Amino acid sequence: MPSLITTSAGNIIKADKVVKTACSRNCFDTCGLLVYIKNGKAIGITGDPDHPITRGHMCVKANTYLRRTYHKERIKYPLLRVGKRGEPDFKRITWDEAYDFLIDKLNYCKKKWGAESVVEYIYSGNREFLAKTIAGRFLNLFGASKLVGSF
Ligand code: SF4
Repeated sequence: MPSLITTSAGNIIKADKVVKTACSRNCFDTCGLLVYIKNGKAIGITGDPDHPITRGHMCVKANTYLRRTYHKERIKYPLLRVGKRGEPDFKRITWDEAYDFLIDKLNYCKKKWGAESVVEYIYSGNREFLAKTIAGRFLNLFGASKLVGSF
């Protein structure tokens, strides 16, 4: 597999390795992607020409993955709102605290209003297989409602 990538600045860089993966955005085609890694960091991304369906296609949304991944304002840890809704007051919490918070909320809703009071609010924009099946299976076991037309 070729390990040379031309960066957005026009420089040609030799990657340490190239990882085959797939786009996790909202399309059914789930385009095959190649991610070029150097020194443990992704330096480039292209469509995978060996993918039997998408054959090297990658749209502009996938083209922004690196900018999004390494953006200084990207949220990388759970934040809990401590101010009023709409106000930018959040505090950082641990993943365990976030899970405990969510479990408490889900159990509270289930006990007070029934499991159907929780709605799987996931629709176009989140159709990729992993996110859909994991969240869907969890909420199915929980007994949550589904949106009409969701799958
Ligand atoms: S690369 Fe673009 S067209 Fe392909 S799955 Fe991702 S978002 Fe959709």
